Amino acid sequence: MSTVDWQGKHVTVAGLGVSGIPAARALHERGAIVTVVNDGDDERARAQAAELEALGITVRLGDGATLPPSTELVVTAPGWQPDKPLFLAAAEAGVDIWGDVELAWRLRGDNGRKAAPWLAVTGTNGKTTTVRMLASILEAAGLRTAAVGNIGVSLLDAVLGEQEYDVLAVELSSYQLHWAPSLRAHSAAVLNLAPDHLDWHGSMEAYAADKGRVYEGNTVACVYNAADPATEELVREADVEEGCRAIGFTLGTPGPSQLGVVDGILVDRAFVANRQKQAQELAEVSDVNPPAPHNIANALAAAALARAFGVEPAAVRDGLRAFRPDAHRIEHVADIGEVAYVDDSKATNTHATEASLAAYDSIVWIAGGLAKGATFDELVTGAAKRLRGVVLMGADRALIREALTRHAPEVPVVDLDRTDTGAMSEAVEHAARLARPGDTVLLAPACASMDMFTNYNKRGEAFADAVRAHAEKSA
Ligand code: ADP
Repeated sequence: MSTVDWQGKHVTVAGLGVSGIPAARALHERGAIVTVVNDGDDERARAQAAELEALGITVRLGDGATLPPSTELVVTAPGWQPDKPLFLAAAEAGVDIWGDVELAWRLRGDNGRKAAPWLAVTGTNGKTTTVRMLASILEAAGLRTAAVGNIGVSLLDAVLGEQEYDVLAVELSSYQLHWAPSLRAHSAAVLNLAPDHLDWHGSMEAYAADKGRVYEGNTVACVYNAADPATEELVREADVEEGCRAIGFTLGTPGPSQLGVVDGILVDRAFVANRQKQAQELAEVSDVNPPAPHNIANALAAAALARAFGVEPAAVRDGLRAFRPDAHRIEHVADIGEVAYVDDSKATNTHATEASLAAYDSIVWIAGGLAKGATFDELVTGAAKRLRGVVLMGADRALIREALTRHAPEVPVVDLDRTDTGAMSEAVEHAARLARPGDTVLLAPACASMDMFTNYNKRGEAFADAVRAHAEKSA
C-alpha cells in the first residue's frame, strides 16, 4: 500500500532506539539510503550503530542537530522536541518530517498482507488501560487483533510482521500524533485532556491540537468524553469522512448517540437501530476491573470503539471480564487488618491522582516525587474530605504539603525528609499507623518517580514490598 518509491531515496532517521532502529532497517530493506543521526555517543549507541552499519546503514553519533545535506525525508523518534535545529533545517529545506506512527501508517500493507484498520486511543490518562480493554473486547469477538503503540508490540512490527490482523487497537501519544499528518483511523477516542507535556508542545492549545489529530479523517466514529468538553470541541473541529458520527461516553445516563451507565449497567444508545427509544445493555459495572469511576469511563470508551467496529454486545461483556489491568494501576496489593493497600504508582500527574483519589471514601494518601511544574491546590481541595492522613516523600513534597496546609489544615501529614529508596518502608509504616479499619492506603504520587526510583514500576514494587513486610510484622 506504500505509495512511496523508496529506491534510492535519502532518508534521515532521527534517534537510535526503540522506534529508530526498526525504522532504519525497514527503510533500508526497501532500498532507501538511510542515515541515522543520534545525539548520544555512549557504549550502547555504538553497539547499536555497529549492527546497523554492518547492514550498510550510515550512523552519525554525537550530532543529532545537523541535517545531512542530501536528506529528502526525516523519520523521527516521537520524543524529539519539535524545535530541534534538525527539524528547523528540514522545514527550511521543505523536507517532510514523519514520526514512527506516520511511517507505520504509510508502510501498512506493504508486505502484501491485509492493511488492518486502526481503532485509535489518545488522552492524557488511561490510554494503555483503554487500548488493552479494547483489544480484549475485539479478541472476545473472535477478531485477530493486538494492542499496539506505546505498549506491547511496536506499530511497525504489527504493520510489517508475519501476523495478519483484522483490526489494531492503537495507543497514540501526543508526540506521536504531532508527527503523523496523514494518519486516518477507522474510529478514535480522546479520553480526557489535562495539562501535561506542555514544555514539549509549547502550549495547552498546541497539545490539544496534536491530540485532536487523532480524529482527522475518521470514517465511523469520533468518541469523546461528555464530562470533558475540550474533547468534544476537538471532534467539532476535526475534518472527518462523511457519515462519521460523534459518540459521547458518560458515567451518567446516556443521551442519544452516547454510551453511559444506568443502574449499574453499561448501556449503548449510539449503535442501536433506534437511538431515541432503544438502549442496549453491554455489561455490568462489576464486569469492569477495577470498577473505579475513571476505569468505567475507560471501559465505555473501549466499548464505543468496539461497537463502532461492529462488535456484538456479548463480546463487550466477555472482553471486559477477561481484561486484567497492568501492574501499578490501581493494583490491589493486600488487605491488612481491614485496611486495603493499593498501588497506583502510574499516577504520575495530578489528573491521574485525582481519578484514583475519587475512587475511595477514606484514604491515607502516599504522595510526592518530581512535580514537573504541577500545582496541587485543586487536587487537594477535591480530595480533602476523604483524606484520613497523608504521607509525603520525594523532592517536591513541600509543594503538596503547602497545598494541604492551605486547603486541608486538619488532615494529619507525615513529611519524610529522605529521598533514598528505603523511604518507602517508612512511608508504609506511617500510613498503617494513620489508617483506620475500612480505609485505603493509596500510593498515588501525582509526581514522577525519578528523584528516588528508576521509574514508576520500581516505585510500585518498593511499595508492594513494604506492604508485604508490614503484613508479616502484623501477622
Ligand atoms: P496512560 O497510558 O495514558 O498513561 P494508563 O492506563 O497507563 O494511562 O493509566 C495511567 C494512570 O492514569 C493510572 O495511574 C490511573 O490511575 C490513571 N487513569 C487511568 N484512566 C484514567 C482516566 N480515564 N482518567 C484519569 N485518570 C486515569
